[in-house]
Amino acid sequence: MKFTCPACQQSLPPGQINVQTDLALCQACGHVARLSQLVDADFDARVLHNPPKGAWYQQTMSEHVVGATTRHPSAFFLVPFMCVWSGGSLGGIYGTQIAQGKFNLTTSLFGIPFLLGSILFWTVALMAIWGKMEVRVRDGIGTVFVGLGRLGWKRSFNLDDVESIEDSGTKVSYPGSSGASIVLRGKSILRFGTNLTEPRRYFVLNVLKQLKARRRG
Ligand SMILES: [Zn+2]
Repeated sequence: MKFTCPACQQSLPPGQINVQTDLALCQACGHVARLSQLVDADFDARVLHNPPKGAWYQQTMSEHVVGATTRHPSAFFLVPFMCVWSGGSLGGIYGTQIAQGKFNLTTSLFGIPFLLGSILFWTVALMAIWGKMEVRVRDGIGTVFVGLGRLGWKRSFNLDDVESIEDSGTKVSYPGSSGASIVLRGKSILRFGTNLTEPRRYFVLNVLKQLKARRRG
């Protein structure tokens, strides 16, 4: 790991870092920083200019946009599977009632888990075809968007309140998900990017770390 001083961006030799006290002293400028704050400065600057396929970084005067598609080869499996699965279960449970013009409460209730399952898995399948994840940062305020087109999940965060940006494993894993995510830790925890492939997640993570480091500098 490489640490840099958050105040002057000089690199800190390991001797100046005290893990026990969680403090680091920069001899170049005298700045004392918490170790947990330094970890953020450790990013791979090279990836910024080499976004992997399906990822992007755009910078305008007032805004930084980093994102990636959630496109995933699992779509080739998910879509036919879902057509058969929800077609069969929902068609059998609700389709027959509609066809016969008769409402059956028991079968309808029995079908609810299939209905919810269909909604959940279709979302996963559609994300694997057309989904995207994007973070927009303007004046230190970031907005995370995950979804399809304009439809999706949105959360905001203040970059100045973020103490660490980590790549973290999760226990949730399903087709189209790598099982890992980007975690912004600070006053609150924000977790996203589970449906990004490894290179895309790594890219987004490093761009965010760089934006955070610049914010401090
Ligand atoms: Zn310094």
